[in-house]
Amino acid sequence: MEKKYTHVLIDIDNTILDFDECARQGIIEGFKDINMPYTDDIFLEFLRVNKMLWEQFENKIITNAKLHEIRFNTIFSNLGLEIDGHAFEAAFRERLHVSHIPVKGAEEFLQYLYQKYDLSVASNGTLFQQTERVRLAGFTKYFSHLFVSSEVGFQKPDKRFFDKVLSTLNTNKDNIIFVGDSLSADIQGGINSGIDTVWFNPKKIVGEISPTYEINSLDQIRDIL
Ligand SMILES: [Mg+2]
Repeated sequence: MEKKYTHVLIDIDNTILDFDECARQGIIEGFKDINMPYTDDIFLEFLRVNKMLWEQFENKIITNAKLHEIRFNTIFSNLGLEIDGHAFEAAFRERLHVSHIPVKGAEEFLQYLYQKYDLSVASNGTLFQQTERVRLAGFTKYFSHLFVSSEVGFQKPDKRFFDKVLSTLNTNKDNIIFVGDSLSADIQGGINSGIDTVWFNPKKIVGEISPTYEINSLDQIRDIL
């Protein structure tokens, strides 16, 4: 049966805002501040450790606060760098709070969907930070609601996060579709809650779970929605 979508849920980081590039710029500036030489090895180690910690957070093995407490100390210790990870993390997060580099094609993607559907954000993170970054990117006007885990009380992929979304939007799972880049948070969340998903997979990695649809660039959304 063809589904009739009325609502689209959209992830923020690495779906409409380029978290990786925001983080890379934040690390480069951090190294400038402490007068240490930056190389991209540091960023690559950040990506590896950050992904591992976020998966632990999504699986409720660690809290968000714990993630922030250990992230840069783990990275610097792995790299054999004698830098105060706590202080670096604090300055890094200040920068991330205002970072808002869009993913290629994000504005057109939102403009297009906004004309046809009711759009909401579905993000794991803190409400203040994510609201601010969406605002600075000029994207607030496209969204009727911002569902951010710190406010919802549950995090993706927990079904209860999506139960809250559906009840607030006063809609049911057959009328909504979720676009996101993360298999563990977004696509798994869709599977847990019975909501169709679009996996934004720009690096064309091979996934171990199946979304309803897959796109490799944001403009391909027009083939689906
Ligand atoms: Mg994401």
